[in-house]
Amino acid sequence: MLNKTIQDALNEQINKEFYSSYLYLSMAAWAESKNLPGFAHWLKLQQKEENGHAMKFYKYINERGGNVELGAIKQPPSEFESPTKLFQDVLNHERYVSESINTIYEKALEEKDYPTQVMLHWFIDEQVEEEASASEILDTLKMAGEKGPALLMLDRQLGRRGQQG
Ligand code: MG
Repeated sequence: MLNKTIQDALNEQINKEFYSSYLYLSMAAWAESKNLPGFAHWLKLQQKEENGHAMKFYKYINERGGNVELGAIKQPPSEFESPTKLFQDVLNHERYVSESINTIYEKALEEKDYPTQVMLHWFIDEQVEEEASASEILDTLKMAGEKGPALLMLDRQLGRRGQQG
């Protein structure tokens, strides 16, 4: 059985993952409106991953005999100023999610909930990747700038996400 503290934290995390999904979908819509189909493609794949994260927590709570409780998903922003600002927001958001997962991990240590610790290892690894990829794209934007050919090339590159490897 899951204890209440851990179950509540996992349910909150489901909400954060669905919010992430919603945020990235909103970002994708913004990118489409700015004629950046590659950015939109990358963000829509990200959106699907976030749904997958939420469902992993959902499955885990059920497997442990707990109760999934879904809360309201808050409204994401719909304006992002620029591609650089958008990716700064992605990176900040992923850092926030990493902290949230680390906090659940600390609770699982306190509660001596070993299965939750093991389950969270996957997410801890995943967050390292999420932060690294957001940070890499942000660095490219900062170096190459947002105008003309550089942005077009980055848009093409992001449009190939999911095609390599
Ligand atoms: Mg996530």
